[in-house]
Amino acid sequence: MRRKLLETLVKKGIKDEVVLSAIGAIPRHLFLDGAFEEQAYEDRAFPIGAEQTISQPYTVAYQTTLLEINKRDTVLEIGTGSGYQACVLAEVGARVFTVERQEELHESAKRMFDLLGYPRIRAYLRDGYKGLREFAPFDRILVTAAAPYIPDALLEQLKPGGILVIPVGKDRQTMTRVRRVDEKDFVYEELDAFRFVPFLKGINKR
Ligand code: SAH
Repeated sequence: MRRKLLETLVKKGIKDEVVLSAIGAIPRHLFLDGAFEEQAYEDRAFPIGAEQTISQPYTVAYQTTLLEINKRDTVLEIGTGSGYQACVLAEVGARVFTVERQEELHESAKRMFDLLGYPRIRAYLRDGYKGLREFAPFDRILVTAAAPYIPDALLEQLKPGGILVIPVGKDRQTMTRVRRVDEKDFVYEELDAFRFVPFLKGINKR
């Protein structure tokens, strides 16, 4: 089933071998509610509780490819959700920091990281609008929720030479890649349209 998923991703235009093999290495069915387990390798998003979704594999592959990750890069992910994307980032060789605003999801993702053997992924219950100042700057930052605008804190926490990937917009989002050229200059690229769950402010404890 995982091999079939990879074939689907290749047909949809994903070419990066490192990204494809990372997706091939991760048991996506374990991130889903039992009810959806059999469909886990379809290229679809699924509910993960707390009104959130695990991203579609194509979206995970697309965002990971845009990040152009080098081994040992520090990557900050905003929106841990199920933890699936964080495992893909770890699998391509990144040093992963991930933040989530919903306590329930944060806790279950942490359990997944232990269960699947990713104890080095550092997960925090935080408001991603603020980034993760104590570990900044990052080589890469990835936002996996629909952002109404690009938060300044994320631009500030990017290293010169770093890349931020963020879907920007209300109903539909434009995947936006920002390269920080140096202290002052940023280059923006607007790419394809996607639909993400909203990037909300504040944290939600249970
Ligand atoms: N990367 C996830 C996809 C999760 S969907 C995965 O692989 O499963 C987006 C996630 O972003 C949701 O879990 C949502 O709760 C979270 N989110 C939304 N606003 C946030 C914020 N301000 N800070 C941190 N996480 C946020």
